[in-house]
Amino acid sequence: MILLDSVTKKYPGDSVPALDSISLHIEPNEFAFLVGKSGAGKSTFIKMITKEEIPDSGKIIVGGIDLDYVKKRHIPGYRRRLGVVFQDFKLLPRRTVYENVAFALEIAGMSGKEIRKTVPKVLELVDLLDQAKKFPNQLSGGQQQRVSIARSVARQPKILIADEPTANLDKLTTEEIIQLLKKINDFGTTILVSTHDETIVNTLQKRVITLKDGKIVSDQKNNGIYKLDATPVPKVPNRIVQTPGHALRQRRKVI
Ligand code: ADP
Repeated sequence: MILLDSVTKKYPGDSVPALDSISLHIEPNEFAFLVGKSGAGKSTFIKMITKEEIPDSGKIIVGGIDLDYVKKRHIPGYRRRLGVVFQDFKLLPRRTVYENVAFALEIAGMSGKEIRKTVPKVLELVDLLDQAKKFPNQLSGGQQQRVSIARSVARQPKILIADEPTANLDKLTTEEIIQLLKKINDFGTTILVSTHDETIVNTLQKRVITLKDGKIVSDQKNNGIYKLDATPVPKVPNRIVQTPGHALRQRRKVI
């Protein structure tokens, strides 16, 4: 579903890469956390998947799409196939809750009739049907994040990416948001969440991928717990990418 093979990214002016030969496969329907100290490379990792940044080398395949072949003019369309949730919600301030979700569907080309059918369903999923007429500034942080999630999942993406979705929320609200993401995952959406929040990671016990200095230092496939330090995974020598299956077989050999 999400495959990175030997992905390296160094920003201009930096002496060390933000991501250093990252190889990883997130399977359909997985729920994976991405953890690491500030500067470890989490945001860059997410930007690789959303194609906000381009790797210097390596291969990225998301939902069967090889990102090398996603041309600049097709990037907005590609991103609409993913659900992306941000820590600062990125809602349209002059539109109501209902309109924020409806607008995303309109952009995606959905008909008016379909939109009128879909929006109430999605608002119900995030438990905000009774707040549909409010504007973002009339909502709490947690409610705003739920609108943002509603907007992302309304198009029924196969993959939902969330970059520190609970960074601006208190503890109780954080728990609510994570339970909502878990519910969305239970419906069959693959979820990748970058976070600093030890409690949510340890509560959910899903896959936990730890980055340190741009490298994967730990990848706990099941019942993962939050940890920031570990011995680096051995580097794979000079691999050539062919197919996702090939990369996967190679990775298994290393483990
Ligand atoms: P995290 O999300 O884990 O805090 P980032 O991916 O933001 O980590 O950053 C990884 C490294 O890349 C850091 O050393 C950071 O300073 C550097 N970096 C991130 N974005 C840029 C940028 N736009 N220009 C230069 N360096 C950057």
